[in-house]
This record gives sequence, C-alpha cells and structure tokens, in this order.
Amino acid sequence: MTVAVVLFTSDLRLHDHPPLHAALRAADEVVPLFVRDPGVRDAGFSVPNREAFLAGCLTDLDARLRHRGGRLVVRSGPVAREVAAVAAQCGAGQVHLASDVSAYARRRESALRAVLDPMGVALHVHDGVTTVVPPGALTPSGGDHDHYAVFTPYFRSWSRVALREPLDPPRAVRVPEAVRGEAPPSARDVAGMSPGLAEGGETAGRSRCAAWWPQDLSRYDERHDDLEADATSRLSPYLHFGALSPVELVRRARAHGGPGAEAFVRQVCWRDFHRQVLAARPDAAHADYRGRDDAWRGEADAAEDIAAWREGRTGYPVVDAGMRQLRHEGWLHNRARLLVASFLTKTLYVDWRIGARHFLDLLVDGDVANNQLNWQWVAGTGTDTRPHRVLNPVIQGKRFDPRGTYVRRWVPELAGVEDRLVHEPWRLPEETRAGLGYPEPLIALADGLARFKHARARD
Ligand SMILES: Cc1cc2nc3c(=O)[nH]c(=O)nc-3n(C[C@H](O)[C@H](O)[C@H](O)COP(=O)(O)OP(=O)(O)OC[C@H]3O[C@@H](n4cnc5c(N)ncnc54)[C@H](O)[C@@H]3O)c2cc1C
Repeated sequence: MTVAVVLFTSDLRLHDHPPLHAALRAADEVVPLFVRDPGVRDAGFSVPNREAFLAGCLTDLDARLRHRGGRLVVRSGPVAREVAAVAAQCGAGQVHLASDVSAYARRRESALRAVLDPMGVALHVHDGVTTVVPPGALTPSGGDHDHYAVFTPYFRSWSRVALREPLDPPRAVRVPEAVRGEAPPSARDVAGMSPGLAEGGETAGRSRCAAWWPQDLSRYDERHDDLEADATSRLSPYLHFGALSPVELVRRARAHGGPGAEAFVRQVCWRDFHRQVLAARPDAAHADYRGRDDAWRGEADAAEDIAAWREGRTGYPVVDAGMRQLRHEGWLHNRARLLVASFLTKTLYVDWRIGARHFLDLLVDGDVANNQLNWQWVAGTGTDTRPHRVLNPVIQGKRFDPRGTYVRRWVPELAGVEDRLVHEPWRLPEETRAGLGYPEPLIALADGLARFKHARARD
C-alpha cells in the first residue's frame, strides 16, 4: 500500500488542485493535511478576520473530502515537524505542496526539505496552483532582469502563456485509518472578527462566483471603479486562501469573452504581477522597491493623524467611508483602497508601512505580495510609472460616488447632506455643520499636496 501526503496551505479547495491530483495518481492512499503552524502567528499574519475565514475554509474542505470518503487531517505545531510525523506514521513516500512566494513560504519549504530528505521522503512542489503563471516563468527579453518591473509588458507576455485545463475534483479520496488529527477550527471560536465578514470556503466561493458572474462580468469594465455599484467580484479572499483556482477563473473568463471579461482577467493578472516582483525581491515586503529618500512621518510625529485615519474620522468623507468599511467587513473596494492609501501616504505623508500593517491587521484577503506591493505602488516607492501622482479625495469621490451613496452607507453622520455637498461637508453653513457630529478636515488638501511636492522635489 503506497501513501502520499498533500500539505494544503493557500490552496484550500478540491477543484483544480494539481498536488492532490498528483498524489492520488501516485499512491493508493492520501493524507490531506493542514497544519496550524505557530510560525504564521509569529510572523504576524494570524489576525481574527483571516483566522475566521480560514476556519470556514477548513471546515468546508473537510466536509467536501468526507463527501468523497476522506477527511481533512488537521494538526497543530511547527509545520515541518508535523508533516514529518504524519509521513512517518503512515509510511508516506511523497509529500505534495503548492509553491508560494512569501518569506514564510520559503522558510517552510526549506524546513520541509531538511526533515524529509533524511527520511527518504520526496517533496514535490507544484507551480501554477496559487497563481495563473508561476513567478519567475516570465522575464523581460533583452535584459538581465529576473522579473518584470512594469505591469503592461508583463500582462502582454502573461496573456500569451497557454494555460492547462483545470482539473476536476477527485471522485474518491482514501485516507489511512491510523492517521489522527484535530477537528477543524470553528469560525465561531474566533474573537474580534469584523461583523460583516464574508463566509470562508470553496462552497461559498463557488456560490459567490455563480451569483456574480452572469450578471456582472460582462459589465466589469464599465463598473469596477464605481463605489456606489459595489459591482466587483469580491472573490479576493477566496483567491487568497485558494478556495478558488485562479487558472480556472481566467480560463472561464476568457471563454466568456468580451470587454468585461478581458478587464477582469487583466485585474487577476495584477496578483501574478505582484507575486513575481516579491519572488524576485523578497525585501520589497518591507523595504522600498525603488529606493527613495522619503522622510515619511511615523507613529512618533503623526500619532493623531494616523489614529484619525485608522478610525475613519479624517473629515474627508470618501476616505472615512473606506476606513469604516474596512473595519466593518474586513474588505474594501479597490478604488477605496487606492484613495485611503493615497491619503495616508501622500496627503498625510505617513510611512506606507504603517498603512500596510493596518490593512494586514484587518483585510480578509490581506497578503504580503498584493498588500505590500499595492501600498508601494500608491506611495510611489513601487512599480507605478507615475510615482508622484496624488489622488484628490474630493474629485475622486465626486467621480466614483457621484450621489454620495457609498459615503452615506458608511458615514451615517452625512446621511442628510445633499448630493452636491456630501463630499465637501465643510462647505455647509457653520450651524448645519455643528449639528452633524462629523469632523472638520484633518488637513487642507492644498497643504498636504504642497508638503508632498516639496518632499519629492528632492528626488
Ligand atoms: C493599498 C492596496 C492594498 C491592497 N491589498 C490587497 C491584499 O492584501 N490582497 C488582495 O488580494 N488585494 C489587495 N489589493 C488589490 C485589490 O484592491 C483587491 O484585490 C480587490 O479590491 C479585491 O476585490 P475584488 O475581489 O472584488 O476584485 P475584482 O475587481 O473583482 O478583481 C478580481 C481579482 O483580481 C485581483 N486583483 C484585483 N485588483 C488587484 C490589484 N490591484 N492587485 C492585485 N490583485 C488584484 C484580486 O484577486 C481580485 O479578487 C490592494 C490594493 C490596494 C490599492
């Protein structure tokens, strides 16, 4: 009887799962394993919103495996130690795992090799599970660069890569009797999560997809920036935890065709783009991708501004709406992410790392590659080809939320303000303003802009 272990990480699904498929082909019995590694918590990634969503993903994965005669084996402890223990217990000859790019994922892979090699257990690391195209597979021609630093040429090359057929979920999974684990964690046991958090799991992700796709994919190009419509897919947490396969989504969108689907595929490509940057430049998780000389303000000199931003009381309605939505849902529309991040870095001139940490503390889809590199993009320290652009929250608010519906959804103080002034409540008569209980602007936009321009003039 041959046995293989599949270590599930950020690929918590049964559809289109190459490591599981390979293990089932190679062995008579398979251990689907998830390890709750204290290293994730120590690295600062374990926060209530993602813990709760992860619990939903694990419960769902277990149920789907049971439906096929198997089960998910959950263990707690250092990941390499637990994998080695399970492999030894069931006499496994192989361990299968999806590749990933974070510093934690690299450490995990080396630790696994270090314990499995001496045991004679083969470690198979599969590309193209958590991304559409593996990081490092594409490099710019005619240079000595190991990755693309600009999105558009990357997208052109990426679009030409032939994608594999998505794999069907397995019909049956036989798990060795002797292998013991814990019950999957429950989202109900997680304290401090956002009240409006989405439900985790492949089942919920596929339902979300089924509900969104027919109505909204075709119009994605027209509506993805529209804050009022809130018409983006909201699939990011499912992609982050691998409850949905990015290859499958892209293949399905291409098969659908049309400008909406093309715009959606382009957006999914941004995930791969940031991952290939992080794979080549792991330090970009913390250090400026393009070394600049910014003398950002930090906690010591901007504590009140940072607190007002975090709590959604900057006095700029669309910024405050975004920050309150983030806290309530653990998720935020991309246009709102751009606006609140631009406001923190360029208007308040606060270090992008402070904003990125706050996002990672709350975002259900928060991940190192997408979060840190999007923050760097907005701060102008990353891959944006126009690093000095500053988004004006009033102009942007009027453009992407013209009736103020998004603002009123999250900032009830402004519920009664007419559309014309909802993005500029400071223009209301003083006595009306006094009754709103909404803060005055933290800073005049012109002053923030002047400070930023002055700082960047040194470039
Ligand atoms: C400051 C900042 C921080 C961000 N942090 C994260 C993060 O931690 N995790 C994360 O998944 N996304 C992050 N994003 C990217 C983007 O905002 C979200 O992926 C998107 O809003 C998720 O909503 P959706 O699923 O409805 O997206 P849709 O518009 O439906 O797009 C489909 C998918 O494409 C991917 N995608 C879309 N835009 C981007 C982008 N700019 N970069 C990378 N992938 C993208 C996502 O996986 C998304 O689910 C960040 C953006 C900014 C500006």
